[in-house]
Amino acid sequence: MVGLADGASLSYDRLVLAPGIDLRFEALPGYNEAAAAKMPHAWTAGEQTALLRRQIESMEDGGLIALAVPANPSRCPPGPYERASLIAHYLRARKPRSKILILDAKDTFPLQRLFENAWNELYAGMIERVSLSQGGRVTSVDPATNTIVTDFGNYTAQVANIIPPQKAGRIAAIAGAADNTGWCPIDPVSFASKLLPAVHVIGDACFGGVIPKSASAANAQAKACAEAVASLISGKPQATPRLVGACYSVVAPDYAFSQSGVYQPRDGMFAESEAVTTSPLEATREVRAAEAVSAQSWYKSITVDAFG
Ligand SMILES: Cc1cc2nc3c(=O)[nH]c(=O)nc-3n(C[C@H](O)[C@H](O)[C@H](O)COP(=O)(O)OP(=O)(O)OC[C@H]3O[C@@H](n4cnc5c(N)ncnc54)[C@H](O)[C@@H]3O)c2cc1C
Repeated sequence: MVGLADGASLSYDRLVLAPGIDLRFEALPGYNEAAAAKMPHAWTAGEQTALLRRQIESMEDGGLIALAVPANPSRCPPGPYERASLIAHYLRARKPRSKILILDAKDTFPLQRLFENAWNELYAGMIERVSLSQGGRVTSVDPATNTIVTDFGNYTAQVANIIPPQKAGRIAAIAGAADNTGWCPIDPVSFASKLLPAVHVIGDACFGGVIPKSASAANAQAKACAEAVASLISGKPQATPRLVGACYSVVAPDYAFSQSGVYQPRDGMFAESEAVTTSPLEATREVRAAEAVSAQSWYKSITVDAFG
């Protein structure tokens, strides 16, 4: 039974849940919804992303923008580094004495060498990253002073973009589909919850192996899940899903690179079934510009595919 906000309820034979993420405010001392009004996470779109934009626009030239990046798993693993790049693009043109500091709870991140090469090429001296082993993990924040505390020191930033640890959207835990990691374990063939077999979980909320939490993956999972549910209802054998995901990272309007992978079930999890294809480390600006055009086309086509 699904309960609706207006008090109505619907019964189901099979239910597909795709609630996205919720932020784990409790995992970062000092951070909560009130703090996010001052130190935006901007990791769910709407007022938060608009707030971050306004803060960056009103910052004086010479200011420091800090980005706190959580450990995995989290929504869009390359996203924080793409965001840092695009902020740098704006700063270089409008506030060139400003700096970006990435405080990272990870030692490595996807497409790292491509990002670092692009930062040297386009934004030399503007972006500094402190990794986990250099003391980059943020342990608490103080919104009254815009202070960010890490294992090794305190930083005060004019703009603090705090992306906290995440978990599956709240309804997943209410339904009983999330385990003690906060995410929803699934069977990778049918997307059925390992905790509630008549409930299927797709998108960022599910956890089923190496497949990244991206819109590209969520879209592919939705199609495979619909097929699996149709097979289960009609009693036909289920096809083994083959999910194709492509992720573009745009570091300037005319400079992008990408990674695409194919994922299939192996030993109860999604695993890479073919070698991952990544943009070359060395490429001309024309190649990067062509990928930026492809990124825009990808965005247009997935938007039409998902929303009509
Ligand atoms: C800065 C940033 C950049 C990104 N860039 C890319 C990119 O370039 N490429 C890419 O592939 N992905 C990208 N992503 C990731 C992508 O946005 C997510 O992976 C994708 O949106 C996940 O889709 P979803 O359907 O699982 O969740 P969502 O898109 O969050 O959708 C879940 C929906 O469920 C609703 N919901 C939740 N609970 C309930 C409830 N109880 N009742 C009714 N509705 C409910 C929510 O309001 C929401 O609308 C990016 C993310 C960020 C933050």
